[in-house]
Amino acid sequence: MTATILDGTAVSKRLMAALTERVAGMARKPTLAVVLVGQDPASQVYVKRKGKVAHEVGLGHRQIDLPIDTSEADLLKVVAELAADDDVDGILVQFPVPAQIRQSAVLDAIPAEKDVDGLTTANLGRLVQGRPLLVACTPKGAMRLIAESGVDPAGKRAVVIGRSNIVGRPMALLLEQANATVTVAHSRTPNLADVVREADLVVAAVGRPEFVKASWIKPGAVVIDVGINRTPEGKLVGDVATAEVSEVAGAITPVPGGVGPMTIAMLMENTVEAAVSRRP
Ligand code: NDP
Repeated sequence: MTATILDGTAVSKRLMAALTERVAGMARKPTLAVVLVGQDPASQVYVKRKGKVAHEVGLGHRQIDLPIDTSEADLLKVVAELAADDDVDGILVQFPVPAQIRQSAVLDAIPAEKDVDGLTTANLGRLVQGRPLLVACTPKGAMRLIAESGVDPAGKRAVVIGRSNIVGRPMALLLEQANATVTVAHSRTPNLADVVREADLVVAAVGRPEFVKASWIKPGAVVIDVGINRTPEGKLVGDVATAEVSEVAGAITPVPGGVGPMTIAMLMENTVEAAVSRRP
């Protein structure tokens, strides 16, 4: 079997074209504010890309650059100002933040209705309760790619490898709410290959290059590769050994060009949704 490629670049382009049209018809431009503390090169690239895509979709966009020695109190003041600013619909603080700032304090300061990353305690809590407001971008995008595969998660066995609050945990909740039977695997899971072999749907969010092997995959399974890893040679690879897994899986997301572009498309969608729900 050669797996169908779930092309996140193509799907995200379609989504963004529809969003652009929707935004053009809105009386007020939704606005995304992105806060960057310090000058971490990878974070700078991500933030720049978010600004560029926001501009392409027609959103308003503000970037707030703060020095690396910004105190937690000063960052929280900036977040509070953005929270109170009626022109700002979405607030995103780029992580990681420097060590003197607690990530949890930042997340608790962003109001749920402006939390376009969907990572605050309130938004994760709402997802747990099955009444989501704004959903974390990466798992939300991964669910769209599963939909693209034509496989309905209802009644299927799903295995999510990874239990972070950013990816694995919300992903498992979304799959469960789509009526899959979900197993969450992590670094303490014994016999991982056997666990994964049960799955009709596999989501790998581990952060280990080409970790998931073909021999772990049930023939025909849908494989969603969230991982982004750089090899010593500078190549980007996912958490799945794509070449060999493609011979067994029914559908697979590539890296790059799978979940990555969907994440950014979902950020734009969340910003529009935040604007609409604040001012219906
Ligand atoms: P974390 O490091 O926060 O979580 C990794 C998870 O993998 C943990 O739950 C950990 O288990 C588990 N794990 C680690 N080693 C093993 C192992 N040997 N066997 C089984 N499970 C293991 O990472 P993130 O969730 O933030 O990110 C995961 C990957 O996704 C990374 O490559 C990241 O770059 C990528 N990513 C991609 C995004 C995109 O837009 N495409 C967005 C966000 C992340 P334990 O909890 O026990 O430690």
